[in-house]
Amino acid sequence: MPPFLENNKDLFKYSSFHTPAIARYFFELRERSDMARLYDIWQFAQTNSLPIVFLGSGTNVLFAFEIFEGIIVRNMLKWIEWSGNTIRVTGGELLSLLSLHISKKQEGSLFGKWVGLPGTVGGAIAGNAGCFGFEAKDAVLEATLFDMEINEYITLKNTELDFSYRHSLLKERPTWFLVDAVFQTDLVSDDTTDPRTFRSGKQPGGFTCGSFFRNPPLDSAGRLIDQVGLKGHRIGGVKISEIHANFFVNDEQGSYRDILALRDLAKEKVREMFGVELQEEVRIIENK
Ligand SMILES: Cc1cc2nc3c(=O)[nH]c(=O)nc-3n(C[C@H](O)[C@H](O)[C@H](O)COP(=O)(O)OP(=O)(O)OC[C@H]3O[C@@H](n4cnc5c(N)ncnc54)[C@H](O)[C@@H]3O)c2cc1C
Repeated sequence: MPPFLENNKDLFKYSSFHTPAIARYFFELRERSDMARLYDIWQFAQTNSLPIVFLGSGTNVLFAFEIFEGIIVRNMLKWIEWSGNTIRVTGGELLSLLSLHISKKQEGSLFGKWVGLPGTVGGAIAGNAGCFGFEAKDAVLEATLFDMEINEYITLKNTELDFSYRHSLLKERPTWFLVDAVFQTDLVSDDTTDPRTFRSGKQPGGFTCGSFFRNPPLDSAGRLIDQVGLKGHRIGGVKISEIHANFFVNDEQGSYRDILALRDLAKEKVREMFGVELQEEVRIIENK
């Protein structure tokens, strides 16, 4: 095992669900020089047939295991470089910080909509995150990825990233690590709604990963789960929020099994009543 890998790492605080979980192997990138470790990690994984999973802030993942028999690589690489009306930012930088940074420079910036949006740039590009009508795809000019398999950097333009609703090409390429991305910063909005006020009234706090399911076309997963009567429904230490039925909230005593049981129940009821197959937005990470 490479000496820089941590063994049997407690992941409790590394997903916003705060469920008990352990990673057999774990690495956290903190400095630019840590990038060189990625290829060593890849080789160790290949030799031992281990899966590798990249992690940002863990605001959109469920650890569905007691012990993950693989390697979790957490990205804490943070730096920002301005160049005219563009900004290059690492995958480990926080979205809310990026948004504040740009909003300070550009009055009425569209990035103001991301104040309060949890997670990192890497997670946001992987899942084309966004809110209030502004998604990663609307501002990303290009992204630099490190392909572990071939030990090479590649740069893709926006149109090559295959963005769609909560999707990008990264979701189909598990060996691509998002190093940094260039955003266009001179995008402005005439919408003056304060995103923080909106969130505090309509979304619950606590240990949650935000919307559990993607919204079906022309509908809302929260509305459907509400209609089947599951608002406030609890299994073990986890309940479906009374404030927003697409939010599953852990009281910190719950386990991933409680969350999966609630997921199955919500899917079953919505399928029965509406004939709609809900799809997870949260990434479920499990042992294969
Ligand atoms: C309270 C709450 C509210 C939320 N509201 C919204 C919302 O309004 N809109 C919205 O879109 N999302 C929302 N989310 C979800 C979350 O904010 C976003 O999905 C965020 O972009 C995830 O970033 P992350 O760093 O936490 O990613 P993680 O949860 O750590 O990872 C998510 C995915 O990205 C991949 N990934 C992460 N970093 C990299 C990298 N460097 N290279 C390659 N792949 C990587 C992971 O492998 C994983 O598949 C909310 C979450 C919470 C907790």
